[in-house]
Amino acid sequence: MSEPLKILLLGPQGSGKGTQAKILERELRIPAFSMGQLLRDEAASGSELGREIDRIISGGNLVSDKVAAQVLRARLSRPDVANGYILDGYPRSLEQANEFTFDKPTHVMVIEVPKDESMKRLGGRLTCFTCGRVYAMRDGHAAGDACECGGKMEVRTDDTPEAIEKRLKIYDEETEPLIAVYGGQGLVRRIDGVGSVEEIHNRIVKALER
Ligand SMILES: [Zn+2]
Repeated sequence: MSEPLKILLLGPQGSGKGTQAKILERELRIPAFSMGQLLRDEAASGSELGREIDRIISGGNLVSDKVAAQVLRARLSRPDVANGYILDGYPRSLEQANEFTFDKPTHVMVIEVPKDESMKRLGGRLTCFTCGRVYAMRDGHAAGDACECGGKMEVRTDDTPEAIEKRLKIYDEETEPLIAVYGGQGLVRRIDGVGSVEEIHNRIVKALER
């Protein structure tokens, strides 16, 4: 067995990195997780930390980078990550990376999508309000359709062009300094994120071999 693959997947909203993380998880047989999912799982577990997270989130507040790192650390101590893991979109700022001191990615894959393309994709987006899964109208889904989980998919109220543009700008401002640091360590692979899901997947696999 070669060294464990510890893949950090970065990309703006609409880059399809969640989809790519799921495909890599199946193919490489290593678990993939996003911070949102880890926080929801921890909250649902009813642990002391989980109850604290639940209070923060239900109060409409953001979980601090310290607490997020604590949750990630607990997840990375579980045996199923022995052969590696895929971090979907975390850390995505220098502040978050500064708390992520207990492990280090072996590959930082940056899925790059031009702003116009991100805007177009996010404009046609439906989100399940129960599980958070995202669907695309261009795949034939419509508001009110049922999600796999039984929930209902709707357009998020913050998926307006102005709100999308603002989120993309924040991504650039927060993530580029982080990419620069990982780049200095030789970990960064930039992936062209325009194309089919399969094309992008193949680019990622190729870049993992480098
Ligand atoms: Zn759902």
